[in-house]
Amino acid sequence: MKIIETDGIVIKTMDFKENDSILTFLTPDSGKIAGVLHGGKSARTGNAAKAELFVTNHFELSVKPNTELVRIRKCELLESYHHIRRNYSKFLHASYISELLLLCEIPAVESKDYYNLLHSTIIQLSKSAKIAEIKFEFEVQLLKLLGISPNLESCIQCGGSLWRNTSGNLLTAKFSVPYQLDASQGGIRCPNCCIRSSFTNALHPGSLAYFHNRQTGMGSGIEISPTQISLKELAQAVYVYLSHFFGRNLKSYTLLKENS
Ligand SMILES: [Zn+2]
Repeated sequence: MKIIETDGIVIKTMDFKENDSILTFLTPDSGKIAGVLHGGKSARTGNAAKAELFVTNHFELSVKPNTELVRIRKCELLESYHHIRRNYSKFLHASYISELLLLCEIPAVESKDYYNLLHSTIIQLSKSAKIAEIKFEFEVQLLKLLGISPNLESCIQCGGSLWRNTSGNLLTAKFSVPYQLDASQGGIRCPNCCIRSSFTNALHPGSLAYFHNRQTGMGSGIEISPTQISLKELAQAVYVYLSHFFGRNLKSYTLLKENS
């Protein structure tokens, strides 16, 4: 048996027995860990506040080899981010983000990158009203960590460049009609190569430019506000892209879509 101390952000809570909860949390050094928090459902113990989605706790754990659940010996609440749970839309976005992280394989060596991404996303989500932008930024960074960022430079079918040659930081799309993000090919189809498929979603030039800007970090320092149409198109296209990669639909996305 090994004792470890670590911070952890709760990404799933499940009722267990009469008063307990099973928490799944993301740690900076050990990937995702699941353990039983005694009194996680009881207000009396004060542990209920530590068993909420996206709270950050400091844990002392005892880990036995070859067991799935660790024993939580001590759990101290560090940050509760209650603004996220008081706003229904923020809560739905948080649920979507945590469902994505539950699907990711997170090896211990990459744990810190995922932890830092989640941590900064939660802080922004808690403070800011630009929820759709925060979610999109999270998705772009998650695609990078998973090593599946789409090719946004040239058409995956004909190889033609998607952009005009311009000087400066901001790119101009070559065509003024919609492109497509193709989830099965991992990139963009130019308007000449668009097809009908459940793996493709239309992206207007402005949406593509915003995507490129966020993915490359080009033009950072220049505040570009995406239009609502762009955010909506990108949300759908990136969702199809991610669910194709994971090979399944996400329950939380349906709720998110119905309420936005
Ligand atoms: Zn093409």
